[in-house]
Amino acid sequence: MGKIHELTNILADQIAAGEVVERPASVVKELVENAIDAGSSQVDVEVEDGGLTKIRVIDNGEGIANDDVELAFKRHATSKILTKKDLFKIKTLGFRGEALPSIASVADVELETATNLTTGVKIKINGGQILERKMISRSQGTSITVANLFFNIPARLKYMKSVQTELAVISDIMNRLAIGNTQIAFSFSSNGKTLLQTAGNGNLQQTISAIYGVNNAKKMLHFSNEDLDFKISGFVSLPELTRASKNYISVLINGRYIKNYQLSTAIIKGYGSKLMVGRYPFAVVSIVLDPLLVDVNVHPTKQEVRISKEEQLCKLIKESIANRIAPENLIPDALKNI
Ligand code: ADP
Ligand code: MG
Repeated sequence: MGKIHELTNILADQIAAGEVVERPASVVKELVENAIDAGSSQVDVEVEDGGLTKIRVIDNGEGIANDDVELAFKRHATSKILTKKDLFKIKTLGFRGEALPSIASVADVELETATNLTTGVKIKINGGQILERKMISRSQGTSITVANLFFNIPARLKYMKSVQTELAVISDIMNRLAIGNTQIAFSFSSNGKTLLQTAGNGNLQQTISAIYGVNNAKKMLHFSNEDLDFKISGFVSLPELTRASKNYISVLINGRYIKNYQLSTAIIKGYGSKLMVGRYPFAVVSIVLDPLLVDVNVHPTKQEVRISKEEQLCKLIKESIANRIAPENLIPDALKNI
């Protein structure tokens, strides 16, 4: 008799969770991205104890249909792509159908959702097992609560940093999500204290101001440029406004916040010798390109991407920033409505 057997779904989900759900901030990212993909105009995020005790994301998006609720928690079940062709022109933040099953396999999850204004569904899942499901009355949208993350994965739980550190990582993700989605009104609170609130009126400079403060926002310059393949735009700080970390640089590709060493380096190179050693600018660089030119299916968290014509893009970014901060162009944009 052979030795090989298929893993149970729950165990397979827990293994996948190891990659998708590294820490509380990964849960926040996945849930907020789902809210964004659902077309929400308002997304409220509440965390307790750095997300280790509780994370709640409430949106007013399209909701999940009654018949789809259990499916949403199955691995590789998604409403966002159907065929291989779709994989090469991803317009949504999610598409792998991994987040909800992964999260539900390592936490207590309660989801309430409705696709219309009156009736919806409430489902409770613990460690991948459905405990309860009932019809409820609620307004359109989805509210999901994730409690006791990693309660059944002690090794992962032990690996968590302090509440303060986990909160800082969540805050950072929230800032980038807000920067990438200025049309959505976000609120973010930790143990009842509001840490971020954005207007959701599409104004990037106001969003930057809400995150980094009005004085820093005043020292940022708007730029935009394009070539045959790429459209880039955003804000870069005056060379005098710097920090000792690269954390204040955000790069978005088609609205998705990504991490890419080459692109961050291109931004820094745009400053030439104007930055002191070890100092980095504030920058938000938003790149719009044909989805065919970018592969987001590199890593389960989708923060790493592969870009075709990356060198050409780096050159465009570097030159556009160098030009924007050239002495003759250094007049900060007047801050409107802040
Ligand atoms: P993916 O986002 O990759 O499709 P997920 O596991 O994150 O996979 O979600 C599974 C499915 O559940 C989504 O494709 C979507 O149809 C639905 N869903 C999840 N969260 C929401 C939400 N907040 N609003 C509406 N639908 C949602
Ligand atoms: Mg998702």
